[in-house]
Amino acid sequence: MAGTLVSVSEIVRCHFCPVRFSLERKLEVRESPRYTIAKQVSSHLGGDLDAGAIWEEVAAILPEIDPSFRAYLNASVERCRSGAWRIPAETEVPVRSDRFGIRGLVDKIFDEEPSFAITRPTESPAIGVSTADRIRVAAYALCLRESLGIPSGQGAVEYIPSGEIRVCTPQPRDRRAVIRAAEVVRHIREGRIPKRPVHAPCTGCPYREKCHTGGKPLSDLFR
Ligand code: SF4
Repeated sequence: MAGTLVSVSEIVRCHFCPVRFSLERKLEVRESPRYTIAKQVSSHLGGDLDAGAIWEEVAAILPEIDPSFRAYLNASVERCRSGAWRIPAETEVPVRSDRFGIRGLVDKIFDEEPSFAITRPTESPAIGVSTADRIRVAAYALCLRESLGIPSGQGAVEYIPSGEIRVCTPQPRDRRAVIRAAEVVRHIREGRIPKRPVHAPCTGCPYREKCHTGGKPLSDLFR
């Protein structure tokens, strides 16, 4: 299965709507300014949080960034100041599961549980972690177990704009969702046409008009 590895981000997108995933599959995915900022803020957690110095790093990484994003960075840094952040043993660690055909890049690995963390540029939900982040944590945990031998019963999610870290314990349903979505991604790559899910998140989807014309093959949606 090594030649058909599916990324964790593909799994998350396909989990929510395989039709949209299929339509957007060949579009270039660019890193968002918020994600770049969140990653840089995260890289300084547990040490000095100098907003000016972090902004200089962000501007070097993403020279075209709109200066208005400085407000997002400043607010994130302020919120993160009060947190008790652990220092990771390693960062940006490539992991994979050949058994399930999944690959990814784990943001942080720690010596103790939760044994890894992922960094998100979004506010924390009211409770726990978002569905998308449950899927991410479950996928990375599968990869960590197989490629690094780390059992990873839990993963943490850093919600940088909220200055919060939330712990997630993946459940069997989360692991099933990961394995199922990875299979669907492979089927789509093979040219199969995905079905519109019953509970697809259509509100606000840019493909809503085309998608709801009823009964058209997916190839028609590209015209
Ligand atoms: S309109 Fe709904 S079913 Fe169609 S691509 Fe968007 S989310 Fe998926």
